[in-house]
Amino acid sequence: MGKKKKRKKRKNRKRLLLLFIVLIVGISFYFIIPNKSFLKQIDNSTVANITYYDIYGIHMNFKGNIKISNNVENLKLILTNGKEEIDTKATFTKENNKYIFSTSKYINDGINLEKLNKGDYYLLIKGTKNNKNIYYSLQNKTDYQNLNYYTLTKNNHNNKIDINWDQYNNISVLNFKIKETNLPANIYDITIDPGHDINDSGKLACSDGSPVTTSGTCLTGTLYKESNINLNIAKELKNQLEDLGYKVKLTRTSKNDAVPTYGNNSSAETANQTKSKFNLALHHNSSGIDGGLSSLKGLELYVADNIDFKLSELFVDNIIKYANTTTSPKDLDKVQNGIYQRFFTEEELLQDDNKPATKTTNTLYYYSIREVGGIATGAYNKKNNYYNSNNTAESYLFELGYLDNVQELKNIINNKKGYAKGIAQAIQTYLNDQSPSYH
Ligand SMILES: [Zn+2]
Repeated sequence: MGKKKKRKKRKNRKRLLLLFIVLIVGISFYFIIPNKSFLKQIDNSTVANITYYDIYGIHMNFKGNIKISNNVENLKLILTNGKEEIDTKATFTKENNKYIFSTSKYINDGINLEKLNKGDYYLLIKGTKNNKNIYYSLQNKTDYQNLNYYTLTKNNHNNKIDINWDQYNNISVLNFKIKETNLPANIYDITIDPGHDINDSGKLACSDGSPVTTSGTCLTGTLYKESNINLNIAKELKNQLEDLGYKVKLTRTSKNDAVPTYGNNSSAETANQTKSKFNLALHHNSSGIDGGLSSLKGLELYVADNIDFKLSELFVDNIIKYANTTTSPKDLDKVQNGIYQRFFTEEELLQDDNKPATKTTNTLYYYSIREVGGIATGAYNKKNNYYNSNNTAESYLFELGYLDNVQELKNIINNKKGYAKGIAQAIQTYLNDQSPSYH
């Protein structure tokens, strides 16, 4: 080989190496540096007003309006990173000269934050005008600011979603940044609230159905306190949910604990303090008929209003199956088999010191549901630090069975694993739903 040829070969090799480096750097930039050029397509002649947004449980909801000229069609609210496009399935209704939109009519539906992939997304309105895509951005017309969300623990992994009101070329945009993260020590997936505490036993019952005396004892049989039964099932449920990989917080861990209703580490606030996605308040019922004469028994699940019943139905079906029980025959407040919605009556409202002047009978009765849910469930008690929060836990109150029904009391005492399994399986089935919908 001549000297010239060798030099040429070396030169070619250098060129190839240079090309290779440029390619690698280019590809890295393409994947690492978010390409926001798609935001240039935003039409800034109009912008959508966001009038409501919240995170309730694992779902995020938006309500808003936008003025758009008549020749724009196929309006959608989408999450996009410029490549992938997620349709939030929001509905658009025309009202006079503007469109009103909403991601869902249910508070526990909307954008399922658990189903979003890692990346840098923007929430935009997309339409078509003369068969060409057109995009509009959103502006914040609420008093609420940026939010963040930690996804449920899955195979020891968590993502953090930062939802920020941002600017792009002086246009207001809503950004979703989704990254893997280590879950901070004070953040949990699920809170279990074993009803009552050392200061309030809840219902009392004697194992043989004999009446509890006025001093709170049993003449015959063993005395059972609702507070202790709730705690035992809560501990069992915590173990089972941890076996499924979730990080679980109990509002109390001992029968000697005192748990306030409001304030730090309280039964109304712990779920939101720990950014839990679900709050499960465990209770047991009594009919008030003494002497083991009560025939009333079975499960009553109390839920918020305006919710999708998917998870509620799973709770009812699985508890019945694994705890070998039935749904309660009680008709008062029943909305579906085993599912109940209890509201204040006008009379009860008048007795409530915290009643807001404008609230009427559609106010949810149980604070465990109403106050834990913040603005999504109509919380109003100013003692609750989260009453005005738009980032709250989805909450359920379980009346697992009647303690003054001798037969049912036996099942509750002997079958706590079954009751816990019913609840844990329902959550697992609900969260493992791999349906393609982002709801
Ligand atoms: Zn109770």
